[in-house]
Amino acid sequence: MQTCNQDRLQNKITAFSHFGATPKGGITRLSLSKSALEARAEFCNRCKKLGMDIKTDDMGNIYATIKGTENLPAISMGSHIDSVVQGGNYDGILGVLTALEAAETIITEKIKTRHPITVIIWTNEEGARFDPAMMSSGVITGKFNRDDMMKVKDIKGISFGEALEASGYLGSASNRLSPSKQAAYLELHIEQGPVLEAEHKNIGILEGVVGMVNYEIHTVGQSDHAGTTPMKMRQDALHAASILICDLYDKLSKIDNELVFTFGRIISSPNVHTVIPDDVRFTLDARHKDPAIVQKVVDVIKNLPTEVVKCQVSSKELWARKTVNFHVPFVDIVEKNVNALGYTGKRMYSGPGHDAQFVADVLPTTMIFVPSIDGHSHCEEEKTDIADCYKGANVLLNTVLDIDKAI
Ligand SMILES: [Zn+2]
Repeated sequence: MQTCNQDRLQNKITAFSHFGATPKGGITRLSLSKSALEARAEFCNRCKKLGMDIKTDDMGNIYATIKGTENLPAISMGSHIDSVVQGGNYDGILGVLTALEAAETIITEKIKTRHPITVIIWTNEEGARFDPAMMSSGVITGKFNRDDMMKVKDIKGISFGEALEASGYLGSASNRLSPSKQAAYLELHIEQGPVLEAEHKNIGILEGVVGMVNYEIHTVGQSDHAGTTPMKMRQDALHAASILICDLYDKLSKIDNELVFTFGRIISSPNVHTVIPDDVRFTLDARHKDPAIVQKVVDVIKNLPTEVVKCQVSSKELWARKTVNFHVPFVDIVEKNVNALGYTGKRMYSGPGHDAQFVADVLPTTMIFVPSIDGHSHCEEEKTDIADCYKGANVLLNTVLDIDKAI
């Protein structure tokens, strides 16, 4: 088995934690912001020093490549370097830095690979500055229209197209990831949840990304004076919504142990403390790997009563995503390497979305998770123990080398 260098990986994590550092030890590194461009420049400098060839495509995605010994499509790996506001030092960036560490090991140990090896940085994964999330992997895999994405503006009115042009990373569409140029894609990511740590596992062996639905449920009543309207004569839309939420919570809890669901947003109108609410909208996000379970959730929503406490009830799907299954032979290689390296692993599905789920539509793909301490993510407390980062990098490195031999 080949192994990376833990001190060198720690050095990378520390170096990149300075770009967009916040006082409490996290980062704010919005896509194509000054701090994100500093991180990109540092990445490119390190790749150039290693002798890697760097290209960018027309979404600003970066591809840093080591030559192979044969004329074959590349084995690629990577993630994103942008963060949410007051995010942590591991979400996304760890996938880039473990990929860079694996590449550096291949170069410095003079390991010959038949395929070229490419490290990818995806632009605007978080969607925290420019909505939607996973914008650039979405464009190159045909999920989003590039022209529409170029017009998306941040809160200051700067469009994605303007920010990309100004960044210096606008490249050619001919450099986009495609099956003619890449043969495989691997992404290491932090779990962003508490399961691996709770079960004392070193590595998450990903089988896919769970499917999900997001519904908005709407109740309509009548606004009246909070002081004069007797309780029995009210049409309180928030009372109706609260009954529905409790009822849904009860019913959905009984469907399946692995089903997760969240009422994440509630908008009550007119939202005045002396007025009975007449219009309430709340969201229901539900996720499970089995489409039949997700369908059961949809059935429960479809069978909601049309009237509750004299208020009208309706629902509509805001969006949905199908379960993505990763490339089974790669999943097996990851598992084999976890065992061969003497680590503990758990087969699992990702709840959050990742660029890999879009890439999986065009290339054989899989992901590797490492544990998040206390399950924290998208916050300044986000952390993964360096020993686990190192283990993840070793699994990634050996998986790349095995795929190089297998395909
Ligand atoms: Zn991420």
